[in-house]
Amino acid sequence: MSLVYVNSEKNKRMLEYKGFLHTQEKIYNEKVYWKCSESKKNKCKGRVHVVNENIVKFIKHNNHVPNASKIEVKKAVSHLKEISSQSTLSTHAVIGEISSQLPSALAADMPNVQTLKRTIQRLCQREEASPPNPNNFDFIIPEQYRNTSDGELFLHYDSGINLPHILIYTTQKNLDFMENCEHWFCDGT
Ligand SMILES: [Zn+2]
Repeated sequence: MSLVYVNSEKNKRMLEYKGFLHTQEKIYNEKVYWKCSESKKNKCKGRVHVVNENIVKFIKHNNHVPNASKIEVKKAVSHLKEISSQSTLSTHAVIGEISSQLPSALAADMPNVQTLKRTIQRLCQREEASPPNPNNFDFIIPEQYRNTSDGELFLHYDSGINLPHILIYTTQKNLDFMENCEHWFCDGT
């Protein structure tokens, strides 16, 4: 039986076993020790020991019951994040799509739409975040900043690592336009 992993909201891998979730505690001599994800909250002693993706030991969860619904919700949210990072659908559409596939018994345990939206928008922003400002001249302009939003070439010249690092941004249309102008006005910064 292969092990089932679930991603937490913070993108941490969790191991699901017998309806319980476990977080990785340590690795020692090829053995991975997973402890109950609620070990702190419930002072639970539940543990799973794994060697080569096989469970070699299971220590019972002593003071709480398994929560299958909570795990299904976690799986759904994790699936949702995956889809929204690949999909061009709007956040709202993605949530609608996923929610419709969920058994209605789980609906009550699902985070509300606003919370989900915020989670997903945060993820998207992280992916679209601009790179930090370079602190020397040795940098490469990322692919997504070389073309206009229409996909037309915008970065026409990049001197690369030669100093001074010169970048010329323009479109062919602007060049054609300038070619037919009688006067050019320049400004230096
Ligand atoms: Zn436990």
